[in-house]
Amino acid sequence: MIIFKFGGASVKDADAVRQLSNIVKSNCDEKLIIVVSAMGKTTNALERLIYSYFNRSSDLNSIFNEIKQFHYDIINNLFDDNNEKLLFIDDFKQDIDNDFIKLSEKISEASSSDYDFEYDRIINFGEIISSKIVSAYLNFTNINNKWIDIRDCLKTDDNYREAKVDWDISTPLISKYFDFSDNFNIYLTQGFIASSMTGAASSLGREGSDYTASILAYILNAKSISVWKDVPGFLNADPKWFVKTEKLNEISYQEAIELAFYGAKIIHPKTIKPIQNKSIPLYVKSFFNPEDEGTVIRSINHKLKLVPIYIRKQNQVLLSISPLDFSFIIEKNISKIFALFAKYKIKVNLTQNSAISLSVCISNNTSKLRQLINDLNKEYKVLYNKNAELITIRHYTDNAVNKVIKNKKILLEQKSRNTARFVLSDAITNADDK
Ligand code: ASP
Ligand code: MG
Repeated sequence: MIIFKFGGASVKDADAVRQLSNIVKSNCDEKLIIVVSAMGKTTNALERLIYSYFNRSSDLNSIFNEIKQFHYDIINNLFDDNNEKLLFIDDFKQDIDNDFIKLSEKISEASSSDYDFEYDRIINFGEIISSKIVSAYLNFTNINNKWIDIRDCLKTDDNYREAKVDWDISTPLISKYFDFSDNFNIYLTQGFIASSMTGAASSLGREGSDYTASILAYILNAKSISVWKDVPGFLNADPKWFVKTEKLNEISYQEAIELAFYGAKIIHPKTIKPIQNKSIPLYVKSFFNPEDEGTVIRSINHKLKLVPIYIRKQNQVLLSISPLDFSFIIEKNISKIFALFAKYKIKVNLTQNSAISLSVCISNNTSKLRQLINDLNKEYKVLYNKNAELITIRHYTDNAVNKVIKNKKILLEQKSRNTARFVLSDAITNADDK
């Protein structure tokens, strides 16, 4: 059995869904599990809907209609009514209508005060509807498949929006739901979403559907995972940043973990560990050119000579935190400070400490930053630099460093044998691979 994962860009419109079905059709000789994300930017749109629902904003209905229209446009494009499968299409459309009725009922109820809980109750509509459309389209084109609601078998704790998988409970359930004992060779399900022990909707964190593919691969002992992308494979830099990029043909699990951890967007950081434990290879493949080789992540025992790999995180804030009582930054202060980051669920991208101050680089996408700083201010002086960018270069060389640093101001620098990291201020100019 193999697993294919299609992210939002690979199901972003009707043509993409058709291309997906071409890819599936040419791989029909094996048992297959397909994991899909929400279509295009639906998860972002749902996040706006949730925000608006929670804050009772006036644009609630227009966001709802926008999401609904986007999906119906795709459906109308994919399923033409003039054929012998009218009944099938009617049933399917009825099902989608019902989902949108459920969603509209949900957002007309009063919300609880728990944002993350409400978020997870709504965010899953993106994956549910996307997976129903893709499954129906495949069936419509005679690629028989069974739709599975992953919330029935992937179980998590109740840390909503960043839920932790309960492997003990999920393993037998997933093995049962995906046992291929019926006559289907293809199962189709959702990435990213799950449910907690109480049955409430939960989710694994943004971009989490790679991780779902990996969980399924681990539990079901898949032969491989293929993640279909709108890039030719794992590139050594973001093509939106560099004019010239190089594709890496193969990388080790360890390297992939490092890259994902530092912020390479291609794969969700939690994805690698489960498949590494069972030596299941992961292919990053081009959605548009499925015959191309892509990148394989697998166990590699020899030392690979890798080109410098550049990872950029923009919109960063560099905090510099020093105790008001002039005590040193050691265990006690460090653990107090990090407890506050954990309390506000703010992810730390990089830290560095001196005797009297701790520098912490975080992404500036949190509404909780103010609260964090207020809390810190009780015992610490906090200075911060907004508009910073964090650049990591794996396998760095002097040349590679010079290329991205150019005339920028270095706020902080960290080097180990393989990795150089810089927090730079004023990310205005674009680095270019010339
Ligand atoms: N749809 C979710 C997101 O956009 C999960 C995923 O695409 O992996 O974050
Ligand atoms: Mg995605």
